[in-house]
Amino acid sequence: MYVDRVKIQDGRAIGVIAQRSFANGLRGPEYLVGARREVLLAAGAVGSAALLRRSSPSLSELVRPLRDQALITLAWHCGACNVTQEVLQTVKALHGHGDKHLVEQLQSRDVMYGHGLVMNLAGQKVLVLGRIVKCWACGPGVLGDQLEMNIVLLQPRSFEFDVSADGQLSDVDRLTHEGDIKAAVEGVRIVKAAVQTIPEYEQLQLTPAGMFHEDPEKDLRAGGGIYSFFGGTATCRLGDVVDGELKVKGVRGLRAADASVLPEPPAGRPYFSIIKVAHVAAQLAMRDAMSK
Ligand SMILES: Cc1cc2nc3c(=O)[nH]c(=O)nc-3n(C[C@H](O)[C@H](O)[C@H](O)COP(=O)(O)OP(=O)(O)OC[C@H]3O[C@@H](n4cnc5c(N)ncnc54)[C@H](O)[C@@H]3O)c2cc1C
Repeated sequence: MYVDRVKIQDGRAIGVIAQRSFANGLRGPEYLVGARREVLLAAGAVGSAALLRRSSPSLSELVRPLRDQALITLAWHCGACNVTQEVLQTVKALHGHGDKHLVEQLQSRDVMYGHGLVMNLAGQKVLVLGRIVKCWACGPGVLGDQLEMNIVLLQPRSFEFDVSADGQLSDVDRLTHEGDIKAAVEGVRIVKAAVQTIPEYEQLQLTPAGMFHEDPEKDLRAGGGIYSFFGGTATCRLGDVVDGELKVKGVRGLRAADASVLPEPPAGRPYFSIIKVAHVAAQLAMRDAMSK
């Protein structure tokens, strides 16, 4: 089912206008799904924002820019499977700011393992992840492996996107805040320095060719090599769009409960915060239902 918009009558959300969606991308006729008590938006940071944009001009005006976590990836072709662990130990020793050591065993098809730690760089929380990725193009085997280091700005102040009514994001994928750039440059420097300390470094080749080799700051300022880490939040942020009970301002009977209500990306991956939001929303809905 595709929800096109919230149906509002006399300042109250009375349901949603939905359509059946088909595998071929087509949609059926519109119909109203009525809500006896309230409408709860949970379409994600992009989806809930787009829904508000489509629902009414005043709700559209409430929508705030999406704030995301920013990912920089440095990859090296590597010659040994234990390289990542050595790199991260070196990073920690070098910097001394590692305040949390997350150990993940990533058991998916093409990832052998990954390790990460969160550091404070230039006043920013930065997650550094290392993993050995199988290169299926070269075939399995040590020489086909690639060392990938991810530098993630968890709460950047300048990685923002506008969301349109059809769920498209504006094309502003660069860091503009000086603190963000400093943290990113520092992350790239530390990771490169750490990788250079491993014995197999001579055999490693930094990819993509050219990027971050000579002048990482210049590359970063030009918007090169920075991607979304899929941590979008804040389009219906608490305070601006929803109140402390997750109710959307200016309309009765409408709540939001997903990543969109987080005021900024959390200082970690977002999933646990979103589960907490859902838990609170369920408690509030239950409380309201019991009191009527
Ligand atoms: C590839 C990838 C990897 C990730 N890895 C991690 C991770 O390791 N750890 C972590 O914490 N987070 C991770 N995330 C982020 C995490 O998945 C999201 O932050 C989280 O799922 C957001 O939850 P949500 O409930 O706000 O929205 P979503 O999980 O996106 O749920 C929204 C739902 O609403 C539906 N929807 C949207 N619009 C409409 C509409 N108009 N009509 C009907 N339905 C609609 C969508 O189809 C979707 O099912 C990852 C994200 C991606 C994309």
